[in-house]
Amino acid sequence: MPNKPIYLDHHATTPCDPRVVAAMQPYWGEDFGNPASASHAFGWRAEAAVENAREEIARAIGAEDPREIVFTSGATESDNLALQGVLRAHGSAGAHVITVASEHPAVLDTCRALAKQGASLTVLPVDAGGNVRVDALARAITRETLVVSVMAANGEIGTLAPLAEIAAVCAERGVILHSDAAQAVGKIPLDVGSLGLDLLSISGHKLYGPKGIGALYVRRRRRGGERIALAPLQYGGGQERGLRSGTLPAPLIVGFACALSLAVAEQPAESTRIAALRDRLLARLRDLAGGVELNGASSPRLAGNLNVAFTGASADAVIARLPDLALSTGSACSSAKPEPSHVLVALGLSPERVRSSLRIGLGRFTTAAEVDYAAERIAEEVRRQREERESGVAAASLRR
Ligand SMILES: *Cc1c(COP(=O)(O)O)cnc(C)c1O
Repeated sequence: MPNKPIYLDHHATTPCDPRVVAAMQPYWGEDFGNPASASHAFGWRAEAAVENAREEIARAIGAEDPREIVFTSGATESDNLALQGVLRAHGSAGAHVITVASEHPAVLDTCRALAKQGASLTVLPVDAGGNVRVDALARAITRETLVVSVMAANGEIGTLAPLAEIAAVCAERGVILHSDAAQAVGKIPLDVGSLGLDLLSISGHKLYGPKGIGALYVRRRRRGGERIALAPLQYGGGQERGLRSGTLPAPLIVGFACALSLAVAEQPAESTRIAALRDRLLARLRDLAGGVELNGASSPRLAGNLNVAFTGASADAVIARLPDLALSTGSACSSAKPEPSHVLVALGLSPERVRSSLRIGLGRFTTAAEVDYAAERIAEEVRRQREERESGVAAASLRR
């Protein structure tokens, strides 16, 4: 048994890359200034670091202008600023919002709150592979539709949305398109310019950066449309052009930019490496355990994601019996609640299959040896549960 658990939960969070930790170091120490202090060198140095980071982030996602990047505390806040911000600026009464059943709670629950404030809400279903149908989305758009929110990559089943097609539909109908890309940026090629996205949420800690920092991309020049009107969620010093008051955390911003640049630069090679490990893990599980079913379409899919059902086994019991592996059954945000994953339920899977489903997230520091060890341990436990079940059934039939 390894001396610490093997981390296979990279959708919940990722470790901060040592190169990112090193980049942040000066800003925790001597370069501690407030980026908004315009009267001295401490402030100027911090401001320069923040503005360099803003440019780096804009470049990494294909934004035209660094002013399109608004720093937030993470993807949750970015989703809230995007959706609540658009509706507050426009007025929620009568406005129509469209989203999808497999979205993260940061989007779904925000939309539900907006519906309570008078907006009308359409939550579109997903197909068996986990994607929304673009024709259904196009049909759902009405004259009142203000914003559509569709995540770029699903953190539970790894499904990638057809964003270019969705963006084309939204542009044609003059609807604002927001995408929660917390699981996508740095993991797949993503260019807001060529995709034509209007609003995009990013999180630092999902891409080997620090926790507590993220960004909302807000497009300035829209195809044939007017500027996006956004109202802030909090008031104060007027930072981020009034959209997000509060002192900017320069160390986190520097780390975020460094992590994003690294992730984008290394993405093609990393995706290939991680997908090979993921395929190896699935093949081993099939060999050693059998009765393995993949949840969500096999492609296109995030390289590091496996979400698999083991017939006749309980995923919670697998997790409880294998403390040497860090695994999960779904989103960490919902794992505090004992409810089944809303994403697997949205796929239309049976309760039995949902209970037997394990989410495995491979990442930058995952090795082939770890994958092999995990496959053996999981298969061993699944076989044990199945045998126990069968002997229970046999004992019951003997008693009959
Ligand atoms: C993790 C995650 C979030 C929340 O991001 P934070 O930065 O932790 O607030 C939102 N959406 C998706 C898709 C995520 O994976």
